[in-house]
Amino acid sequence: MEEFRISRQGTKQIDVFRTGKLLCIGRNYAKHAAELGNKVPSSPMVFLKPSSSIIRSGGTVRIPEMSNDVHHEVELVCAIGKKGSNISASEALSFVAGYAVGLDMTARDIQQKAKEKGHPWSVAKGFDTFAPLGDFVAAEEILDPQNLPICLRVNGEIRQEGNTSDMIFSVAQLITYCSTIFTLMPGDLLFTGTPDGVGPVKSGETMIATIEGLSELAVNVE
Ligand code: MG
Repeated sequence: MEEFRISRQGTKQIDVFRTGKLLCIGRNYAKHAAELGNKVPSSPMVFLKPSSSIIRSGGTVRIPEMSNDVHHEVELVCAIGKKGSNISASEALSFVAGYAVGLDMTARDIQQKAKEKGHPWSVAKGFDTFAPLGDFVAAEEILDPQNLPICLRVNGEIRQEGNTSDMIFSVAQLITYCSTIFTLMPGDLLFTGTPDGVGPVKSGETMIATIEGLSELAVNVE
C-alpha cells in the first residue's frame, strides 16, 4: 500500500499520506504476554513490519508455504500525522492523525523458532498480506483511544475480545518511546499490540476485526 487517506467528518477535507514505516509493539497486554509464556516488558518491545505486508479491508490473507501456524492479532493502529522526535507525553496524541483497526498476522511457528535461536522476527511478521488494515477515522473523532472495545471474530465466532484500556503502555507512551529511537514521519503506522485470545486461522475462513467507533475490517484467508 503506497498511500492511505483520512477524511474529516463534516468537511470535504481528505488528507493523503504516503505509507511510511510500520512500528509494532509486542506484549502490550498482560493477558496476551502470559498466554504465550512471556513476561510483561519493563519498556515497550518494538519491532518493524514492511509496508509491503499491508492489505486493506476486503483483501485476502495468504498463508505462506513456510508456515503451518498463522495467527491473528487484532490491534489498534495509529497513523502518525506529522514529523517528530523526542516527543513529550503531553504532546504525543497531537501527532496522531487517525486511528484504524488492524491485524498483525504472525507465523507463530516461525516466530517460535526465531525466539529460541535469538533471531529477529522479520520473517514471522513480514510476509505479504500480513498487515490487514481498516479505514482510518480522524483522530479528533476519537475522544479516548484508551477506552475502546476491540474484538476479532473468525467465521462469526469471537476469538479475541478486549479493551484498549488494558494496554500496558498507552498510545501516548508508545509514541514518546518510539520517537526517542526513530524520527516519526507523516504516514508512519503504529500497531499497538494485541489482547489475549490469539490463535490460528485456516484457508477458507473469514476474519472480522472491530474497534468501537472505527470502521470494520473484513479479510478472507487463503
Ligand atoms: Mg502484535
